Amino acid sequence: MTAPTKKPRYSVVVPVYNTGDSLRDLVARLQSVFTNTIKASFEIILVDDGSVEERTKALLNDLARQDGVMVVRLTRNFGKPGAVLCGLGASRGDWVITIDDDLQQSPEDIPLLIAHEQHDTVTATHAHKQHTVSQRMTSWIKARFDKAMLGYQVKLSPLKLIRRHVVDGMLAIKTNRPFIPALIRQVTNDVVGVPSEHHKSAQGHSRYSLTRRWGQFSDLLVGNSNFLMQVFTRLGFVVAALSFALAMVVIVRKLLDIPTQAGWSSLMVAILLIGGLNLAAIGITGQYFIRLLDITSKKPAFVIRERLGAPDSDQTHSGD
Ligand code: UDP
Ligand code: MG
Repeated sequence: MTAPTKKPRYSVVVPVYNTGDSLRDLVARLQSVFTNTIKASFEIILVDDGSVEERTKALLNDLARQDGVMVVRLTRNFGKPGAVLCGLGASRGDWVITIDDDLQQSPEDIPLLIAHEQHDTVTATHAHKQHTVSQRMTSWIKARFDKAMLGYQVKLSPLKLIRRHVVDGMLAIKTNRPFIPALIRQVTNDVVGVPSEHHKSAQGHSRYSLTRRWGQFSDLLVGNSNFLMQVFTRLGFVVAALSFALAMVVIVRKLLDIPTQAGWSSLMVAILLIGGLNLAAIGITGQYFIRLLDITSKKPAFVIRERLGAPDSDQTHSGD
């Protein structure tokens, strides 16, 4: 790539892994959309996530010769979120667009997202996905968790438009198990969706097996949320409350002189109480761990959207 000196308005980040010739189409269609429809400066960043296929490497070497196309090659396969994060780090545009390499989202839909540029992040949303049954199942579960754990009101797609200060906030967070939707939510809730069509993968198959999908999901569950800890804490308090209720029953029965089998009730009260308090204690300890994790990963205490009437300076703060 002949390094453009001026900062482009848009950066397109594409994670690439053992891709087919459709990548050439994707790049051509992106170039056409930005040149003919959007008419704005752009750069395309192809992040090779450790592809092992020789034809992918050759294809990328070839594409890198084009103006405005940059290839960043990772040392090994890190998984899509790492590749996307790397692309965000290499990007220079005022806006970053993320899109998959297999044409499941149309580059021609990018102007639809750009029409909502007053928001911090705009995502395409797909009412119907060209997915297999197992993909449908995992993406249904993931969508539920995106909503419950991250508070998203829209269903996310890999095709997103993200404002520069959100990208900078995301990059300020140190994590080796990134989960892009969680990083976005650390910085902003101003995320809107734009309906868009989902196409069959030009690749013909997913590069994510069920096991890898589960791995990503557990990164969300354990690495990017306190969901499990919350469950344990609540469960603990419920069990402790149960033991209290049972203790009340035992006392009332004693007071009313109702005969009970000796020892059973008090034993149950003790077991439930100890069990409940244990669970609650584990949950609370976990809450401290999650907070420590937030500090070590430098999750920002705030990110400034804009300053009015003052010179611009540091945009994030990680609380240290
Ligand atoms: N991808 C990646 N690293 C991987 C697997 C996939 O960067 O280890 C990229 C891939 O090149 C594509 C995107 O992630 O741009 C989505 O992959 P795929 O289309 O295989 O998954 P699906 O559409 O089934 O979610
Ligand atoms: Mg795909």
